[in-house]
Amino acid sequence: MKAVVWTGEQTFQLQDVPEPRPESGQVVVKVEAAAICGTDLHYADFQSTPPIIPGHEVAGIVVEKATDVNNFSIGDAVALDPVQRCGECYACASDFAHLCLNTRHLGSKCAPGGWAEYVAVDAANAYRIPEGVSFASAALAEPAAVCYQSFRRARLQAGQNVLIIGDGPFGLLHAAIARILGAKTIIVAGHYDERLARIVGHTRAISCNTHREDLGAVVAERTGGLGMDVAVDATGAGATPNIAISALRPRGTLVIFSYIWNPQPTDFPAVHLNELNLVGSCRSLGCFEPCLQWMAEDKLPAEDAVDLQIPLQHVNDAISELAQHKKDLFKAVLLPGRK
Ligand SMILES: [Zn+2]
Ligand SMILES: [Zn+2]
Repeated sequence: MKAVVWTGEQTFQLQDVPEPRPESGQVVVKVEAAAICGTDLHYADFQSTPPIIPGHEVAGIVVEKATDVNNFSIGDAVALDPVQRCGECYACASDFAHLCLNTRHLGSKCAPGGWAEYVAVDAANAYRIPEGVSFASAALAEPAAVCYQSFRRARLQAGQNVLIIGDGPFGLLHAAIARILGAKTIIVAGHYDERLARIVGHTRAISCNTHREDLGAVVAERTGGLGMDVAVDATGAGATPNIAISALRPRGTLVIFSYIWNPQPTDFPAVHLNELNLVGSCRSLGCFEPCLQWMAEDKLPAEDAVDLQIPLQHVNDAISELAQHKKDLFKAVLLPGRK
């Protein structure tokens, strides 16, 4: 089969590789759509060992299954949670199995991902796609699920005020899910007017372009000077956590959603004085089904976040297009079935 492979180079290669076979408990999925995510471009930074087939935002059709898989039929349309678990470790035995200590994460060395014609995955990680949800949308079930996880970590309540820092696809998905969950005021801070306008259009969030607007003033105006209940860092920039901290009310909650490559010293005095909660949010647990359902109900604008649908072999073009048109492109989805 054809697969995109990270070989340690700057760009990806299309290669012929053997088709996967289902191991015990697994299904093989014919990939219909696999999205490109920022983390797919960081294998070298994470000091991963090539070759790796990337792709952790995947949707497709079950075409083969192990004899011990009973809950799926050939032909089922599924979205995939990339975090395959061992079922035996401390995390798996607790209520945070998504932090499995022995995870075989799709798109890593030990589990080839979905930038390929076929991918093998634990049946436990496949979720049926509801009627009416396209494969391109369903490929965004993973990024949506991890955004939902942010608010579960923050214990967001309906009627609370949410600040999302970051106007990329994760900013959009966070804002959309905050709206679904009944947030009162949603402020999205970013640098690109085009992106912010799209997010506002979908979510009725209040935008703040921090290149020319003072975020602190916007927060104060919208919360009567109190501050936000919840703030989410969806940028990964080193300065963001402290900006978020300064925007929170006493006992507010900061969610560290993004991986921060160059962290700066945290304002711990402010954390102390205001009894702030700092929580990390990584991957997701129990979030796929609600996100797919929200897509089916047209509440989650996944389809509208997909700006490019491109054949698998043009992956490098898609990546450079995303980089060149950052201000008005959110997501690109690879279509292995299209030539
Ligand atoms: Zn991702
Ligand atoms: Zn485990």
